[in-house]
Amino acid sequence: MNAFLEVRSVAKAFGGNQVLRDVSLQIAAGEIVGLLGPNGSGKSTLLNVITGFTPADAGEVEFDGTAIERLDAHRIVRTGMARTFQLPSMPSRMSVMEVAMAASTAHHGVWDTWLFTRGARQAEREARDRAEQLLAELLLTPVRDLPASALSGGQKKLLGIVCALMARPRMLLLDEPTAGVHPNLRRDIVTALQRLNAAGMTLVIVEHDMHFIREVCTRCVVLDRGEIVASCRPDALASNERVLQAYLGAAARP
Ligand code: ADP
Ligand code: MG
Repeated sequence: MNAFLEVRSVAKAFGGNQVLRDVSLQIAAGEIVGLLGPNGSGKSTLLNVITGFTPADAGEVEFDGTAIERLDAHRIVRTGMARTFQLPSMPSRMSVMEVAMAASTAHHGVWDTWLFTRGARQAEREARDRAEQLLAELLLTPVRDLPASALSGGQKKLLGIVCALMARPRMLLLDEPTAGVHPNLRRDIVTALQRLNAAGMTLVIVEHDMHFIREVCTRCVVLDRGEIVASCRPDALASNERVLQAYLGAAARP
């Protein structure tokens, strides 16, 4: 496989808690990979390490041929990789539109060449156009002037996706995008993600909902206690012995 993202032998411990052990993973451009595993198996930590929010203790991460394991989150987003968070927290005083606009500034930085070449006004206009387009695509236009903190949990997840997309990423990592989301909104998230993938975006999605996984993902990677125990097609999950063990073991563990 020609890897777009390659994770090699990543390890991470918090105190004495070994959360990731020798995790290696390759993802090709265009894939939609579901990242599964019991609670506490290290899924969010793996996303945090890949996207530069948590430094790994060991291992390498390569994205589109660039070593990124020593870069911080701001630099990584500029290489074309963006993410959403499991529990998005929104500033209480900013409107939905303002949050989307602020994401653009955060991604590009004040001194970015993008600003130099186009000029600040032009850059702001482009960011506003893009924010408006993304808010429309993710069904947030009716609430664009409300405080972001007043959104429902599901709408906050949609706004998290808007913020990530403001960076024009080629790869998007989503941490439980449908958990706690109303079924109607869940369908909209599925549609939005499939449209992004059809337009060329590679996706990694931490997800528990098997229906979602079967419908959306081209491959599944399963973590158990910080180790990858399976990489298979969604329809092969139910008959995978190590996957069953991971979930049954987790249920049996105190
Ligand atoms: P998952 O997303 O699969 O539910 P996490 O990656 O969030 O799992 O957590 C895996 C383990 O790492 C848990 O035991 C959690 O308590 C621990 N952990 C995660 N982040 C931190 C942190 N910042 N400090 C200490 N422990 C952490
Ligand atoms: Mg998590």
